[in-house]
Amino acid sequence: MEKEKLWDMGTLSVWGGEKQATHGEPTQIPVVHSVSFGYQDVDEWLKAALGIKKGHIYSRNTNPTVDALEEKVRILEGAEAATSFSTGMGAISGVLFGLLSKGQKVVSLRDTYGGTSKIFMEFFPKSGLEAVLCPTTDFEQIENEIEKGCDLLYLETPTNPTMKIVDIKRLAHKAKAKGAIVACDNTFATPINQNPIALGADLVIHSATKYLGGHADALGGIVCGKKELISKIFHYKEIIGATLHPMSAYLLLRGIKTLELRVKRQNRNAMEIASFLSRHPKVEQVFYPGLEFHEGHDIAKKQMRGYGGMLSFTLKGNSFETVKKFLPRLKLAHKAANLGAVETIAGVPATTSHVECSAEERKALGIPETLIRYSVGIENVKDLIEDLDSALKEV
Ligand SMILES: *Cc1c(COP(=O)(O)O)cnc(C)c1O
Repeated sequence: MEKEKLWDMGTLSVWGGEKQATHGEPTQIPVVHSVSFGYQDVDEWLKAALGIKKGHIYSRNTNPTVDALEEKVRILEGAEAATSFSTGMGAISGVLFGLLSKGQKVVSLRDTYGGTSKIFMEFFPKSGLEAVLCPTTDFEQIENEIEKGCDLLYLETPTNPTMKIVDIKRLAHKAKAKGAIVACDNTFATPINQNPIALGADLVIHSATKYLGGHADALGGIVCGKKELISKIFHYKEIIGATLHPMSAYLLLRGIKTLELRVKRQNRNAMEIASFLSRHPKVEQVFYPGLEFHEGHDIAKKQMRGYGGMLSFTLKGNSFETVKKFLPRLKLAHKAANLGAVETIAGVPATTSHVECSAEERKALGIPETLIRYSVGIENVKDLIEDLDSALKEV
């Protein structure tokens, strides 16, 4: 649709990839649970199987509900193509193992999502692949590493859990000059706040489980980008079988309809909460890219339209005992291993995103053991600040 180019993100979140019903069809995308799709004409069947004509064969490969989700996210990221997975980790594995072969090298960051760095450290050596993990904000060192040889540059920004900001444009430019593929995990930013493809990335990855779905009731992963890369990643997925379930695709589609509303509210809430915490006498350090003193603020200002709903902080004294007292006193937060939902969620990386890492590995990543990660929900910000304030008073 030509019109789509003129529509804003809020409109695209609702209408992107959806057709207007004409003759009494459902206005909402139906959940097609069918595993297979039937054909009377063998020639037609063959054409669909060979991809010469549009048509579904078997739901491990493609499915109409799953297709609609891929199309919506593709439009929001301004990409040529998209393919989905059962989880975000499935999508990340699909990018790495679907595109790379033995002997190839990935340049990435120390601060990638815990599961992603596990792939680099544990499964790469087994597959004869190499990953060099650079200090996340030392762009010169990353450029030097790319210069030495790089098949795929893997980025993530803002990073988990200390919200470091990586200069996508600068590093993508360098990697492209060396002929490398550039992939970026955009889970924390969402397409509402940041579009890595517009900044030079070839592929953008989402754990749809988080902000895209937004209601913490469906797992999913999506990769968007260049057609020829996506078709390789799709092929890996259809054979490996890390396929998204149609019911999850439906829940994610429904979630995305309010993506722009939620994320804009979360951007505003997080900014207010970060300012409040940074002034609080019991708070030691606050990590939020929207704060002017955050080390990545200037880059964030250039490459993001909003600073997101994720922040983290440490308490004065920096003792785990204080954290153990503080967390249960928060009434308006799930204490759980998730983020990006409508409800506020608080946790410590040691038990959530970086549970796969040992205490030494977390230390090497510069993650304080007492860091509290706070995923801001869509609640009224006054209530959230009051909740934080009263929990802080009690420690
Ligand atoms: C959660 C998360 C993932 C993994 O997604 P799953 O859906 O849990 O597999 C990857 N990257 C980031 C940044 C995440 O937050």
